[in-house]
Amino acid sequence: MLLARVAVPVPLGQAFTYEVPAPLTAGVRRGARVLCSLGARKVLGVVLDVGDREPEIDRARLKPLLAVVDPEPVLPEELLGFLQELARYYIAPVGEVMQLALPAVERSAAKAALELPGLRAVGKLVQVAVATGAEPSKPLRGAAVEVLAELRAAGPTSVAELEQRWPSARGALKRLREAGAVEFEQRGKLPDPFAGEVVPDVAPELTLPQSVAVRGLVRAIEGGERRAFLLEGVTASGKTEVYVRAAERALSLGRGAIVLVPEIALTPQLVARFRARLGSRIAVLHSALGEVERHAMWRSLRSGEVKIAIGARSALFAPVLDLGLICVDEEHDGSFKQEEGVRYHARDMALLRAHRANAVCVLGSATPSVTSVELARTGKLEHLTLPARARANTKLPEVEIVDLRRTGPGPGGERLISVALYRALEDTLARKEQAILFLNRRGFSPSLVCEACGKITECPSCSVALTLHRARAERLVCHYCDYSRPVPDACPNCGEPSLVEEGSGTERIESIVAAAFPGARVARLDRDVAAGAKSARVLDRMRRREIDVLVGTQMVTKGHDLPEVTLVGVLNADAALSLPDFRAAERTFQLIVQVAGRAGRGDAPGRVLIQTRQPEHPAIRLAATHDVTAFLEVELQARHELRYPPFSRLALVRLDAVDEDDARLEAERLAGIARRVEAEGVEVLGPAPAPLARLRGRYRYRFLLRASDRTRLRLVLLGVARAPLDRRVRLAIDVDPVSML
Ligand code: ADP
Ligand code: ZN
Repeated sequence: MLLARVAVPVPLGQAFTYEVPAPLTAGVRRGARVLCSLGARKVLGVVLDVGDREPEIDRARLKPLLAVVDPEPVLPEELLGFLQELARYYIAPVGEVMQLALPAVERSAAKAALELPGLRAVGKLVQVAVATGAEPSKPLRGAAVEVLAELRAAGPTSVAELEQRWPSARGALKRLREAGAVEFEQRGKLPDPFAGEVVPDVAPELTLPQSVAVRGLVRAIEGGERRAFLLEGVTASGKTEVYVRAAERALSLGRGAIVLVPEIALTPQLVARFRARLGSRIAVLHSALGEVERHAMWRSLRSGEVKIAIGARSALFAPVLDLGLICVDEEHDGSFKQEEGVRYHARDMALLRAHRANAVCVLGSATPSVTSVELARTGKLEHLTLPARARANTKLPEVEIVDLRRTGPGPGGERLISVALYRALEDTLARKEQAILFLNRRGFSPSLVCEACGKITECPSCSVALTLHRARAERLVCHYCDYSRPVPDACPNCGEPSLVEEGSGTERIESIVAAAFPGARVARLDRDVAAGAKSARVLDRMRRREIDVLVGTQMVTKGHDLPEVTLVGVLNADAALSLPDFRAAERTFQLIVQVAGRAGRGDAPGRVLIQTRQPEHPAIRLAATHDVTAFLEVELQARHELRYPPFSRLALVRLDAVDEDDARLEAERLAGIARRVEAEGVEVLGPAPAPLARLRGRYRYRFLLRASDRTRLRLVLLGVARAPLDRRVRLAIDVDPVSML
């Protein structure tokens, strides 16, 4: 009996076994998609393997596959194998993992094509007719002859276009297909914001450290070696140029490359540099793409027509053929971790995919993660360094620490714009240079507090304060679930009209700076003003010098190369330090060094002011001297003592439910199961309510597993994952968690 194991998109761990009916035998292959029934539904799955063997379940209960979708495997073997290993690593349902690599259109179009064969446009796709090259098997008349001649002369043409010229084109095409002379394809239209003109540029002469790094990478690529590198280069040391050269070499050898960046909308310069040098041979996968464009890119990669993909974390799953190189830029960035669904880390998985594909992997950063540094120390990553800025005569900026406990507030009594910062802004504006002010909080005021009863106005579904947003028509907004309401006149708790605003967000800072410097052009960059492509527009205005002061959240810290920025102010360096997370110091350090790195990239020297109440904290003190090595020393020591990663392996098990008791009881039961699994060296910490105890109306409990090695940790997690669960409770397993909330 021929059986196929199929990954179907359901939240269950394993693949499902189906019987392969005789007529489908030829088409059912590993990597091909098939239509199969799942309960009452019909779903698309990916075949993992086919074999002649005894079924594990009762033959009578075995269902047959219904149809084969792809004549060729939809996923290349290398990618398919990688996805299976990823599923194993994260204890994630293999069918859901497969979905990471299949564009939505590909999923729905394939299903629709099966159900509605014939001349129909599927979704937003365009139906295209293609001449097969075969001679028609019947004698043809009229329009069919002309349409065939047209297709042979002009190449693939959309059905709509043909219909405009021959009113009877549909009928003619039908006959041509029956005669074997024409086939149909679904294609996306190709409008794309990054597809505009390519501005070519000349490759700069490499600096000495750059050429050493490039040589190391190129040798490894030429040798087809599976090697992984940590490229540690200070801000503006020219890491991008190193990636470009490595990708060029891979391409010239006929191999493909993937370049991962934290947020593609915020990295137009990196993309522009790649396009300038490698032209249109690049697929830029970004969030502003429609499904159709995304699909068109996916197909051009899958066919090998395009060999380089650039994008945010999901570009790791691009079907690049003959992969030779993966670059992960700003590898320390938290956005590489997916925090819902399949909780994977694109940086860790980049190492895995490259390894399996015999490809080279480069992790680049000015502030490498503690994890990557430890990998370099133990020889698992080869260390390349770019110790100075690339452009001649540019240096790292001078950094001054402003002790908020000793400095008075500046204009309008605003504590977060100290006198020192106010003076520095004044100087910068007088010199007609630009400034960036960084604050980790969007909105006008982070909370409303009642002076009568002391209560903070909270979100009704989450255990967090509501943030006041003036720019959103004076509303209180929840930053976790996006609930919003008008500002109340009185305290919702005690009814007294004594609500006062507490603290400052980017909106308030923007308005205070604008009021203090009436001649200055002030703008803001955070999630409220800038979703997707809009953030690129703000940065563009900044580059064209239409903005003097840019106030923003993390979005202003990421990789921008703005040569006229000479002043950077970090308004509140302590905010990130106080989070209940063992990586708080690491994140604070990275944030400060990165945002400081935006200053002084051009001809004029840069200056950075860091405002803090903890000037002696290593994360702040050592960020001020750009001393990455010394900070990592301190941090690794602390991690070692506390047995945190990279000196242990962690997994968080989260449970949530509408009813608090349900969540708590299941957390206690599963933690008990975890404790009973015989696995030496695995600790179970908790359960306890999550720091964010309620989210979107659900109570959250969690426990932490800590282990000395991955195999044992996995054993315990499998025990937890396989335990039956109360249906009112949701379980999420987070292997190598990044957010501890
Ligand atoms: P990083 O990614 O390390 O922060 P970038 O790649 O953005 O640095 O480079 C910073 C600046 O240095 C850019 O303006 C870039 O054009 C310039 N640059 C890079 N390499 C060289 C070089 N070899 N010679 C001159 N300028 C360079
Ligand atoms: Zn909420």
